[in-house]
Amino acid sequence: MEQTIHDELQQIRNRGLYRATRLIQGRQSARVVLEGCETLLLCSNNYLGLAEHPALTEAAIRATERFGTSSGASRLVSGTMELHELLEADVARFKQSESALIFNSGYAANTGIISAIVGRGDVIFSDRLNHASIIDGVRLSGAKLVRYPHNDAATLAKVMEKQRGTGRCLIVTDGVFSMDGDLAPLKELAVLASRHGALLMVDDAHGCGVLGREGRGSAELLGLLGSIDIHVGTFGKALGSFGAYAALSSELRELLINRARSFIFSTSLPPAVLAASSAALRIVQSEEGRILRERLYAGTALFKERLHQAGFRTGDGTTQIVPIMTGDADVTMQFSKLLLAEGLFVQGIRPPTVPAGACRLRCTVMATHTDADLLWAAERIADVGRSLGVI
Ligand SMILES: *Cc1c(COP(=O)(O)O)cnc(C)c1O
Repeated sequence: MEQTIHDELQQIRNRGLYRATRLIQGRQSARVVLEGCETLLLCSNNYLGLAEHPALTEAAIRATERFGTSSGASRLVSGTMELHELLEADVARFKQSESALIFNSGYAANTGIISAIVGRGDVIFSDRLNHASIIDGVRLSGAKLVRYPHNDAATLAKVMEKQRGTGRCLIVTDGVFSMDGDLAPLKELAVLASRHGALLMVDDAHGCGVLGREGRGSAELLGLLGSIDIHVGTFGKALGSFGAYAALSSELRELLINRARSFIFSTSLPPAVLAASSAALRIVQSEEGRILRERLYAGTALFKERLHQAGFRTGDGTTQIVPIMTGDADVTMQFSKLLLAEGLFVQGIRPPTVPAGACRLRCTVMATHTDADLLWAAERIADVGRSLGVI
C-alpha cells in the first residue's frame, strides 16, 4: 500500500503536476512574507482588501464575545442562531431575492444545491469551464450531464431542443469564470431557461462584491438580478470572510433545507464568520465599497494595458482575474518560480484545473495594490517572459 502511494506521488511529480502549500506570514495584504521573503501578492481573491478591514475584525470579535466560538451543530440539530437569520436577511436584500440560505463554503453550496434539486431522470446543462465544485455537484446528483462549449449559448439552444420532454432541467454556469475572468452570457441563458422551463443557477464567486454599481455581482452588471433562479456567491473572496450563500425563492430554500446534504449534515458557520460577512455586505453597498471597486477597476486596466504592450495575451476577460497565457506546464511553473525570485507571488495554473496546453499565470488584482505595485509587477513579468521566450 505504502509503495503504491509513493509511486503515485512520483507519477504526479514526473508529469510536472506536483502541488504543495506554501507558508506566508501575517495577513493577506498586498505584500506578504512568503517563506521568509517579502513578495507582492498577485494571486489572492481578497479583491477589495476586506480580509484586513477593521470593521470585519471588530464584528467578528464582538460576535464571539456575545455568542461564543461555535454554532455547536447543524442548524437542523441545535437550532439556527440569530446571526444566521440576520445574514440571510442581509443577503436577500443584497441580491433582491425572496430569501437566502447560508452554506459553509462555495464548494459545499454547489455540491449540496445541485444534488438536492436534480437527480436521476433530470438533465443538467453545464458550461465546459465551470468550477470544479459545480462538476462535483453534478456527479453527486446522478442527473444526466450535457456540457456545452464555453459561453456558447447558440449551441446550448440546439442541445436543449434535443433534450425536450425529460424531467427537471438545470442550466448552471459560473458568473465570472475563475481561470479566465470572463463573464457568462447570462441574458441569453436566462432566455433559454425561460423558454424551456429550466432553472438557471449562477455561481458568482468572483463577481460578488466586485461587479455592478452596488457590488451585487454579474447579474446586477447585466441588469438580470430578477432573472436568475439561484444565485450562489461566496463570502471568502471579495467579501473578505468565509462561507457562501444561495439567494433564491422561499420554496427553493425550503427544498434545500430538506434535501441539501452539505447543509443538513455539517456544523453551521460560527458567529465570528457570520458577523464578519454581514459587515462585509454593508461595506460593499456603501460609498466606501464603490471607491474600492473603482480602485480595483483602474488598477486592473493599468496592469492589463502594460501586459498587452509587452506582448502578452490575457484572454477575453474583463475583470480583475488576469490570465497570462503561457502554454505548457513546465514553462508555466518555471515562470512562476522565476517571478518569485524577483519578489512576485503568482500561481501557475496547470491541468486538471485548466485544459492541457492552456496553462497560464493567473494574476488577480486587488484594490489594495497601488499603481506603482502593478507597474512594477508588469515589468518583472515582461522581463521573465522575454527570458523564457513567452513573448
Ligand atoms: C472559489 C470558488 C468556489 C468555492 O468557494 P469556497 O467558498 O472557496 O469553497 C465555488 N465556485 C467558484 C466559481 C469559485 O471560484
